[in-house]
Amino acid sequence: MKKDIPVFDGHNDTLLHLQDGVTSFYDSLEHTHIDYDRAKAAGFAGGFFAAYTPSPEKDSNKGEFINENGYKFPLPDRITQAEALVFTHKLAAQLFRIETENPDKFRVIRNVKELKDSLDQRKMAGIFHIEGAETIDLSFDALYVLYEAGLRSIGPVWSRTNDFGEGVPFCYPSTPDTGGGLTDKGFELVQHCNSLGIMIDTTHLNEKGFWNVAHATNAPIVATHSNVHAICPMSRNLTDEQIQKIADTGGVIGINFAVSMLRADGKRETDVSMEEIIAHFRYITDFVGVEHVAFGSDFDGAKIPDVLHDVSGTKKVMEALEQDGFSEEELEKIAWKNWVRVLENTWKD
Ligand SMILES: [Zn+2]
Repeated sequence: MKKDIPVFDGHNDTLLHLQDGVTSFYDSLEHTHIDYDRAKAAGFAGGFFAAYTPSPEKDSNKGEFINENGYKFPLPDRITQAEALVFTHKLAAQLFRIETENPDKFRVIRNVKELKDSLDQRKMAGIFHIEGAETIDLSFDALYVLYEAGLRSIGPVWSRTNDFGEGVPFCYPSTPDTGGGLTDKGFELVQHCNSLGIMIDTTHLNEKGFWNVAHATNAPIVATHSNVHAICPMSRNLTDEQIQKIADTGGVIGINFAVSMLRADGKRETDVSMEEIIAHFRYITDFVGVEHVAFGSDFDGAKIPDVLHDVSGTKKVMEALEQDGFSEEELEKIAWKNWVRVLENTWKD
């Protein structure tokens, strides 16, 4: 590649894998897709670091939900706000510690200027994102406190149902039209986010919830880690109508590297070719323009193709995009400029 283009990414779950006093972001981590040195070498300039509260593990065999045509996994039970708040504090603390351990190398981003400066200075940038709003109480007090702490992006649901809405279960083949959308409190959440300038992520919403957000928000519509349903007809992927709506509002879609969301055949296996990955970037570019596609890796939150291996795959994807005919200007948009534009039009400063 002619120019060293930094890649800013829409979604990772790396915070889930850091443990205070045991594993640091600056260690050479073997159990994760991302650590500082590998990310730096791959041109990974930072991204949205998700705080996601897992459901308690249940003894269930995934195999029983898979058949010859595909799969339909049941969603886990709801979790309480108290559980989610404690866990979110834990993960947010991990993010802040990455910065305090080495402020010359990593910065938690709270406004667009900080993001642009970080990209210029090649200092890694992290945005505090909450995936699934269980953390937020129904008076929205936690939203305001977490905003002051640095929260700048939130997904109303992570697939599992909560007080703000119903999410989309993991099914193949399936449309995203799987049930009810936002609740009244979900609509209120959108309003509070708009007034604070917190980005609302439609990833993991079902189709009804997506359109609820689309009609209620005054910000560009964003799906941080979702792919093209016309290529891979999985419930988590976006229909052409959704992609068109995101483009119409000046929004962006981060391409997810989860094998189950890339493969046309719906198999959950890792022998995915680079061409199959590039196809999602190309589809959105040809359909609505290169301004509306970006990275949304899902590193450390998904099973990814062997060809990517870990964060080092970021560089390989950039090279493959270049080989596919994307110009340097287009590559810069996909790599970071689209995300910066969306945040300029979403955040308060
Ligand atoms: Zn996710």
